[in-house]
Amino acid sequence: MLRLSCPICGTRDYTEFHYGGDARKRRPEHAAADLKAWHDYVFLFDNVKGVHREFWQHLLGCRQWLVVERDTASNVVVSTVLARSAVGTTASVSPGAGASREGNT
Ligand SMILES: [Zn+2]
Repeated sequence: MLRLSCPICGTRDYTEFHYGGDARKRRPEHAAADLKAWHDYVFLFDNVKGVHREFWQHLLGCRQWLVVERDTASNVVVSTVLARSAVGTTASVSPGAGASREGNT
């Protein structure tokens, strides 16, 4: 069973969370008219085996967005941080398509 450790609420079952996508992808600039870049961002996904950075929202808790590093083969969670504190720490963290990462509290 997958359990995620929310920095605010503590360890909870994954059913309290909503998967928000790949945290490694970089969202195209809003004004970008490059449809291929938007297509690739929205519809193409890597099927990673190993440690993967993912967005998860603690939907039934504090509603904060998290960046979770999880081994997709073993389901072992390597680290969990608030997404707002992870932004800028790596070049790959950015909000996903169609979901607001902030302001849902
Ligand atoms: Zn929480």
